[in-house]
Amino acid sequence: MSDQSLVENHNAPKKLVVGWFSFTCCEGCLILLTELLNENLDNWKKLIEFRHLKALKTKNQIEGLDVAFVEGAISSPDQEAELLKIRANAKHLVAVGSCACTGRPSATRNDLLNAELNYKVLWYFKQFKYNDKVKKIADLVKVDAQVPGCPMIASEFIKAVESYLKLYKLI
Ligand code: SF4
Repeated sequence: MSDQSLVENHNAPKKLVVGWFSFTCCEGCLILLTELLNENLDNWKKLIEFRHLKALKTKNQIEGLDVAFVEGAISSPDQEAELLKIRANAKHLVAVGSCACTGRPSATRNDLLNAELNYKVLWYFKQFKYNDKVKKIADLVKVDAQVPGCPMIASEFIKAVESYLKLYKLI
């Protein structure tokens, strides 16, 4: 790395460091995000570093996030552990979409299954180490903001992004 590039890095303006994470869901909110990038990427890439966005990048990092956007509900101990790790690495955490905000529709199985599960369903529970109940994000970690809707309401998501850009004085 040249001295010049070090100077350039040092002087580079701060960007909002963002991660997107998907748990149990249809990933429809993620698809909507990619649609929003059609319109917003040129502007957002000047202001936002997408540090974790597995749908679009192969190298992803969880450390040092300003904002973690989380879609999906939590249905296994592994997912619980990952969510706690995300929370520990993010200054702000936003639940995105109905699954993350309320658990549903992913948590619909909470109403349908009981102790008399048939053996096929029990096999899936054990095979994938599922929890008995599907949980919303706020059942496990502090949530700073929510973007409701199934899929997420696009205008509310943009509002949330802009509120953090303002908070960090980037717009
Ligand atoms: S909120 Fe709806 S669209 Fe978004 S991930 Fe859940 S089921 Fe899919």
